[in-house]
Amino acid sequence: MGIAELPLADTLARPLRDLRISVTDRCQFRCTYCMPREVFGRDFAFLPREQLLTFEELTRLARIFAGLGVRKLRLTGGEPLLRRDLDKLVAMLARVGGIQDIALTTNGALLAGKAQALAAAGLRRVTVSLDSLDDAVFMALNDAGFPVARVLEAIAAAASAGLAPVKVNMVVRRGVNEQSILPMAAHFRGSGHVLRFIEYMDVGTTNGWRLDEVVPAAEIIALIGGQWPLEPAEPAYPGEVARRYRYRDGGGEIGVIASVSQPFCRGCTRARLSADGKLFTCLFAGTGHDLRGPLRAGSSDQTLHELISSIWTRRADRYSELRTRQTARAQPVRPKVEMSRIGG
Ligand code: SAM
Repeated sequence: MGIAELPLADTLARPLRDLRISVTDRCQFRCTYCMPREVFGRDFAFLPREQLLTFEELTRLARIFAGLGVRKLRLTGGEPLLRRDLDKLVAMLARVGGIQDIALTTNGALLAGKAQALAAAGLRRVTVSLDSLDDAVFMALNDAGFPVARVLEAIAAAASAGLAPVKVNMVVRRGVNEQSILPMAAHFRGSGHVLRFIEYMDVGTTNGWRLDEVVPAAEIIALIGGQWPLEPAEPAYPGEVARRYRYRDGGGEIGVIASVSQPFCRGCTRARLSADGKLFTCLFAGTGHDLRGPLRAGSSDQTLHELISSIWTRRADRYSELRTRQTARAQPVRPKVEMSRIGG
């Protein structure tokens, strides 16, 4: 059987369709819920350059993943735009047969100057993270003194470069930025962009994640729907992470990513590649599978194909579902993931 014909499904019959590629573990922000300064401070040992997968290695792996069924790539980090010449990587990935969609998740800090080149290289979509429209709240969260206006400029620049509609990710943490939900909804209503609210997740680096800091998606929908009536919309594609809602008055749509209150492991078709070439089959997997070693040791495409295939077919992860059950029984388990290594 030829490489591209191999049907691939894990132990829960989930196909491999999406690959999130972390191109760097570095970020200029120190978002308190993601890369808090106490952990990612001056002394933190980020990966030396030679340990990062090169563009050629990433493209080769993307070709092998495409042969296993991957159709969508998402570039993430750390902050992916810190990786120099990212548009060159996009152009290389855009030429990989079978890849239908290349997206980027970014904090927006460097996007305004790069949006045009990225779009020209073949980037199809961009997601920009923004947790509040209030500078004091946003700066307290990003812990890097970065102002809201620059992120809004980045969103506008991405739209003018042809990357509209832009998705805007807002992580909601109770007592920190829940008061920003309605202003954010008001701002993006009617803009053509899609605001998505993400339940605050335990990513293992914030010592004090607590369930009571999670604002459940249902509460967010009720709050916004009380102001501007909403109706559920069909998923844009099977396995879509966000649940979509439409403003009844035609003001566009919003999404909620309810990974804590309504985990979606059953429909998860995503694998993640860390910046140093480890394959993770779940955001919360404690350990990854090294692909860089075999890649640099001269493995053939067929060997790498078989390696990835055997990792995916053994996959049984449903971490979020199990964690939600355990948390409900007041026995929280702690994941060992570092978001900065794998990307969101
Ligand atoms: N630096 C880029 C950015 O800011 O978008 C890409 C990497 S970031 C890890 C990807 C996404 O994960 C962002 O939208 C971020 O807000 C989200 N994220 C990070 N930590 C999170 C957490 N504890 N709970 C929920 N979402 C989180």
